[in-house]
Amino acid sequence: MKLHFYGAARTVTGSLHGVEVNGERILLDCGLYQGHREEALKRNRTLPDWAIAAGHLILSHAHVDHCGNIPGLVKQGFTGNIYSTAPTRDLAALMLQDSAHIHEQDAKFLSRRRRKAGHNGEIKPLYTLGDALRSLEHFITLPYHRPFRLASGVHFTFFDAGHILGAAMVLLEVQENGKKARLLFSGDLGRRNMPILRDPEIVSDVDYLILESTYGNRKHNDRDLMDEALAGEVDRILQTGGKLYIPSFSLERAQEILLSIHKLEAQNRIPVLPVYLDSPLASAITDVFRLHPECFDEELLRMLNRKDLPFFTQNLVRVRSADESREVMVRKESAIVIAGSGMCEFGRIVHHLSYGLSSPANTVAIVGFQAANTLGRKLLDNVNPVRIFGDDVAVRARIVALDGFSAHADLPELLWFVKEIRSRGYLKKVFLVHGEDRALMNLKQELKQTGLESVEVPEQDSMYDLNA
Ligand SMILES: [Zn+2]
Repeated sequence: MKLHFYGAARTVTGSLHGVEVNGERILLDCGLYQGHREEALKRNRTLPDWAIAAGHLILSHAHVDHCGNIPGLVKQGFTGNIYSTAPTRDLAALMLQDSAHIHEQDAKFLSRRRRKAGHNGEIKPLYTLGDALRSLEHFITLPYHRPFRLASGVHFTFFDAGHILGAAMVLLEVQENGKKARLLFSGDLGRRNMPILRDPEIVSDVDYLILESTYGNRKHNDRDLMDEALAGEVDRILQTGGKLYIPSFSLERAQEILLSIHKLEAQNRIPVLPVYLDSPLASAITDVFRLHPECFDEELLRMLNRKDLPFFTQNLVRVRSADESREVMVRKESAIVIAGSGMCEFGRIVHHLSYGLSSPANTVAIVGFQAANTLGRKLLDNVNPVRIFGDDVAVRARIVALDGFSAHADLPELLWFVKEIRSRGYLKKVFLVHGEDRALMNLKQELKQTGLESVEVPEQDSMYDLNA
C-alpha cells in the first residue's frame, strides 16, 4: 500500500490524499485549495494526473476544503465513483452549487478587470454550475458502519467523526500480497459532548492513521459557557435597543447558533425576540439537517420526540431576497441577525456591518475561526476604523469573541483520540495533515511525548510506501 499526499499537506486547505493498493487508486477527499488567488487558481485548475486517473473517491464531509474541487476533478477527466454518507451528498449538492456560483462571479469580475486594463480574452471559472451538477451524478451514498467492497482486497467503512452533519472517518481494510492492514483517515475530527451530533467514534485495530491537526497547538474555550455568553449578549441588546450580529458559516455553525437560541428561549433565559436567518444557503442547509435525524445525538432525538423543532426559534424569519435583507438592516429593533460569510469577507453580513458597526447599541459576536486579513479578524484585533466597500467605517459597536463553538477537536481532544485508538490496537504510524506548521509540529512533539514513535508530517506531493 502506498500513500500520496497531494493537498492539506503542511496547510489547512485543499484536502487531497491518495491510496494505492492492489493496482487500485483511491482518492480521499478533493477539496478546494484556498489561499492567494494566483496560487489557488493554479493548484485548483491543475490537479495531479494520479488523482484524475483514480478509480474511486471517498469523501469525508461536505466542507469545501474537502469536497470543493470535485467538480474540477470531474471536469478534468475523473470518471470514477464518489462515495459519501447520504447527508454529505445532500450538503455537497448545496455547497458545490454555491461554490460554482462564487467561481462564476469571480471569473466575471476578473474578466471585467482585464478588459479595463486593455487585455482581451475571458477568464473562465474554475467550474460552472453545470460542472457541479454533473459531478453529483458520480455519488454513491452509504450509511455509517456498513462495510463496502471497493475492489479485490479493499473494503472501506464510514465511522462517525462528530464534526459536521454526515462527517465521516474512513476505515480502509486492505489485503495485499497476503498482508492485511487497516488505515483510518480522520477527515476532520469533531469534539465530544457537542450539541446536535454524536461523539467521534473510536475505531479498533488501526495500523495507520491519517489525522487532521487544525488545532494541534490550541485549547478551546468550554462549549458549555457559550450559551450563557450568548444569553448575556442578548440581554445587552435588549437594554440598548440594538442588534446582535452573528457572522456565521452556513454549514453547522448557523444551525448550532439557532439551536442555542432555541434552548435559551425554551428555558426562559432570554425572551423571545426576532431572529433573522439572512442566508438562503444556511436556510437550505437547515432543511437538510431536518432530513437526517439518523445523525442526531440523544438530546436532539428527545427534542424531536417532543415534536420540538430544534432549529426554529419562536420568532425566526428566514430572509430570502436582498430587498428583504435591506429592510431588516434599517429596522429599529432589538434582534439577532445571523448572516454569512463567516469571516465577513462577502455576503449579506458585510452590508449589515457597514450599516450597524458605528452604533454603540449594536454587538458583533464572532463565533468562528477568522483568517488573517479578513474583516472578521480586523474586528477581533480592534482595528478602527475598518474599510468596507471603499469607505472608512468607525467601529463603535461592541465586538465579542464566542470562541467555544469550534467543530474541530483541540489539542487535548486530539491527544485523547490517539490514546484511545492506541488502547485498542497496535498503531504503527501516524501521518499528520490539515494543519499550519506550528500546529503540526506541536502535535507531533506532543504525540512523541506519549511514547508514539512514528509520527510523520508529509510534505506536499510526497509518497510513502507502507510495504517498504
Ligand atoms: Zn471540516
